[in-house]
This record gives sequence, structure tokens and C-alpha cells, in this order.
Amino acid sequence: MSITELDKQYVANTYNRFPVEFTHGKGSVLYGTDGKKYIDMGAGIGVTSLGICDDGWVKAVTEQVMKLQHTSNLYYTEPCALLAEELCKRTGFKKVFFSNSGAEANECAIKVARKYAAMVKGSDYSTVVTLNNSFHGRTLTTLAATGQPKFHEDFQPLTPGFVHATAESIYELEAIAAKYKVAAFMIECIQGEGGVVPLDYDYVHELFSFAEYHKILTIVDEVQTGNGRTGKMYSYMNYGLTPDIVSTAKGLAGGLPLGATMMSEKVQNVLGYGDHGSTFGGNPVCCAAANYVLSQIDDKLLSEVTEKGEIIKKELTGVKGIVKVVGLGLMVGIITVRSVSDVVNDCLKKGVLCLTAHDKVRLLPALNIPKDLLYEALAVIKEACAEE
Ligand SMILES: *Cc1c(COP(=O)(O)O)cnc(C)c1O
Repeated sequence: MSITELDKQYVANTYNRFPVEFTHGKGSVLYGTDGKKYIDMGAGIGVTSLGICDDGWVKAVTEQVMKLQHTSNLYYTEPCALLAEELCKRTGFKKVFFSNSGAEANECAIKVARKYAAMVKGSDYSTVVTLNNSFHGRTLTTLAATGQPKFHEDFQPLTPGFVHATAESIYELEAIAAKYKVAAFMIECIQGEGGVVPLDYDYVHELFSFAEYHKILTIVDEVQTGNGRTGKMYSYMNYGLTPDIVSTAKGLAGGLPLGATMMSEKVQNVLGYGDHGSTFGGNPVCCAAANYVLSQIDDKLLSEVTEKGEIIKKELTGVKGIVKVVGLGLMVGIITVRSVSDVVNDCLKKGVLCLTAHDKVRLLPALNIPKDLLYEALAVIKEACAEE
């Protein structure tokens, strides 16, 4: 049987995969069993932040895997401790909890917020407010947090204690805070799966000051927007604000599973011994990978992310078949005249991998995508959008 046939027979039917079987790659280029070359404008949904098999990343991972691949969290290891230090130094947060995915990073953020609210305001202050159209993960709790009813349908009952608000409406947040006992507001500064929707600068500022006044914690879900994606280390930095808790994952380790929940001074000691845990969390190989990724995300790379984001906007704006280009840095959404699936399928046929998010074509290329490949991919995307 072919890879596709085996997969279709034995892997759960949760993914409607594109008809490609990838075998290997380098940087922003992937190769399939069809013998074709593909330019990667999706980076495994914003995960392979330095591209496929970046030399330095491979070296960091290989060196670690040959020394020690796992110890459990009963013991100390260097990559985990160094990574926590580096994340805190870059953000000002005081403590980090490591897990394996975005959903788990959010679960931890929610646990911290609920315990803090219980300690400070009382155990009935458990409501977490998230926004309509948000995406926070697929576990039963992060699904409850996700403000998209279509994901909830077949999986009731979900974890209670989540309320969804319309983005950009402070009045709605006020009404919710008057009706429910709220522990935290949780937002994505740019909604990713919801269609690359950046939140308004003033709205985010008002949300934060409302939260501060009412002793409500702020959680920013940086699973997709984090680790350089928007041209800043974390997307909240574009707003000049500091949340109480930040979760991240996707691009953090450049292609190995790692989630991180960062805690500000206020909540740094909320979790104590035995309150939370993860067998794989903080795995030395994943942390060594993340340490390498972070070593590459410097001011130079961040300004290149911003510059390449501008190139994408400039190249695609005003093109036939393209209505609008939105996003920040290398997190881009394109509103097209043709259906997004037609555009993405045509791009695939022409050797360019794109993503979708709701009604938009979404691009999340590697942060270090070379400019010549970027222009080559944009030419194909333009062509696909312009078709009738
Ligand atoms: C992808 C994503 C998640 C879920 O991450 P997983 O690693 O799939 O659990 C959560 N929040 C946001 C904003 C995401 O983009």
C-alpha cells in the first residue's frame, strides 16, 4: 500500500489531508514522493520557524539527543532551566511552566487564573471570558474557551465557566463582568484560526485597564502569534502592554512539541508543588531546540520579519482577484475573490503550500524564508488569485 492508502486505512479520519506525501526538505522547500519541489508558505502551521532542518537547529537537537533525551520532571536538566531563564529575560515574566502543545499551555494559564482568583477574590470567581471567533485548542477545556460554536457541537458537556464576548466591544465585557464572577480575560492579539483578525489597539488597551481596575487577570494566547511571528518577540509587545499570563507553543521549538506558560510577578507563585505537571513537559531535546530558535530571533531577524511582511502586503495589494491583505509581520491573511480552497489547491498544484483560516488564505512562512523564494511563491499566489 502507498503512504496515502495506509494513512487512510489506519489513521483516524480527523484530517482532510492534501494529496501530497512529503519525505524531506531544507529551509523553505519541501520535497514529495511525486518528485516535485514545494515552497513552504505555511511552515507546518507556523511551527517550523527556522524552516526545515536548519543546520544550527539540527546540530542543537542532535547534540542534545545524543547526550540525554528525557529524565522526567523529578530531576533538573540544563536545557529546560536555560530556556526558562531566556524566556523570562526577554519578556520580564518571572516563571515558566513547560508542556507539549498550545492547548496544554492554555490549560495551565486557565488553572493559574482560577487558582489566583480563588485565592484573591473567592472560589466562585472562576469565569474565564474569551472572544467570539477565538481559537484556544481542542481539549475539552480549551474547546470551551474557543469562541466558535461549530467546534463544540458533538462534544457536550464541555468544561463549564467560559463566556464568550464580541471582540471590540468594551460594553459587552462590562456587562459580562457585572453578571458573572470573572477570573480572567483571555485573548489572541491577532486571532489566527479565526481568520487572521488583529484586535484594535484601543480596544486591547481598554480591555487591559478594565481588567486591572476589576482585578481580572489578562491572559494572552500567543500560541500562533508568539516567538517572532508578528515582528516582535510576542504580539502583545505591539500594543505596549504586559499581560499577567502568556501561553505559547507552535513556533517555539521550531518543529518539536513544546508549550510554555509564562507567569508575571503577580501570579508567579500561584502554582505550588503538585498543583500541575506534565510528563514530557520541558523535555531536554525540545528545550534545546527552543534555545536554538530563540538564539536566532534577534533584532535583525525580527526586522526582517517586518520587512518581509511589508513585501507580501505590497506585492499582493491591488492585484486582480485580491480584495484585501491583513495581518502583521509574517502572519498574513488574504481576502480573495475566488474561494480560498480553489486558490490553495491551485497553489499546491503549482508547488506552493498555503494555509486557510476561515474566509482567508493564510500565510505563515518560516521567519527566515529567503527573499527569492518569497517572491517566487508570491508570483504563484498572485496567479492563482487572478484566475477566473
Ligand atoms: C494552534 C493554536 C492553539 C492550539 O495549539 P495545539 O498545539 O494544537 O494544542 C491554541 N491557541 C492558538 C491561538 C492557536 O493558534
